Amino acid sequence: MANLLWLQGGACSGNTMSFLNAEEPSVCDLVTDFGIRVLWQPSLGVELGDALKALLHAVIDGRTPVDILVFEGSVINAPGGTGTWNRFAGRPMKEWVQALAARARYVLAVGDCASWGGIPAMSPNPSESQGLQFLKREHGGFLGADFRSQAGLPVINIPGCPAHPDWISQVLVALATGRADDLQLDELQRPKTFFQSFTQTGCTRNMHFSYKVSATEFGQRKGCLFYDLGCRGPMTHSPCNRILWNRQSSKTRAGMPCIGCTEPEFPFFELRPGTVFRTQTLMGVPRDMPQGVDAQSYRALSIAGKHAAPQWAEEDLFVI
Ligand code: SF4
Ligand code: SF4
Repeated sequence: MANLLWLQGGACSGNTMSFLNAEEPSVCDLVTDFGIRVLWQPSLGVELGDALKALLHAVIDGRTPVDILVFEGSVINAPGGTGTWNRFAGRPMKEWVQALAARARYVLAVGDCASWGGIPAMSPNPSESQGLQFLKREHGGFLGADFRSQAGLPVINIPGCPAHPDWISQVLVALATGRADDLQLDELQRPKTFFQSFTQTGCTRNMHFSYKVSATEFGQRKGCLFYDLGCRGPMTHSPCNRILWNRQSSKTRAGMPCIGCTEPEFPFFELRPGTVFRTQTLMGVPRDMPQGVDAQSYRALSIAGKHAAPQWAEEDLFVI
């Protein structure tokens, strides 16, 4: 049996909604097949008021062990570091997080806001938001760079806006069944099994990417979304085209550019007008390149690809 406690800070509840849609395994499977006992969760917990405070104090006092602490949303420190903009069960949420994280065997940050601060931490960051162990790409965050949970691990980040439900439920299974050692983390503390490959891995538009055939409108079935519509698939670490959403599709399959929501810099360019869904270029070369490709190689590749593009690449392959 693994006790799970889930709290929400500066959050829109998107990751809770995502989690409740998990399929492989589902939330019910976590309870019936994988021994997870949900102590409390914002949409599932039944305790309120004094009963909830008693539950949280029992964890802090060590009377109720917590195996997995999940945090969703940013840690809000405003105003002036007090955290009182986000009170919960009678005190600033940040105080609960500090005390509970010290007790937890594993700590999971679910979604961008908990991982890196997300949209709330965009400049000028009026809520003084932080992620649990990062502020954007800067290591440290609310708990500090040296934080380790009782199992000796740093915060495990499952970013995304929201995170895919099965990324969450599969990591929970690993932790609840004693397979935490299988979770290799990258330098941003994301499980490599999900975040080593790119959104582009498995995208149905890869041929159009190679031949530099561009989609110019959302929903177009032919063409790659990189050249005009700002797709970040070649430099975003996510398995969105390997573990499909609703087990059926992904943004890029549906004709919507990847906006890089699993990376600390999301949302890019601080959402300045004209920078969203539009490829930013400098002297005709995209400002943000596919990871590991330099401008000179890009020019050579794109000239060769364009030159070699066959006629069919300009046509719609996905006829019904
Ligand atoms: S750039 Fe985007 S649309 Fe094009 S192949 Fe890569 S992931 Fe797919
Ligand atoms: S396709 Fe890109 S923006 Fe969409 S969920 Fe995946 S990583 Fe996030």
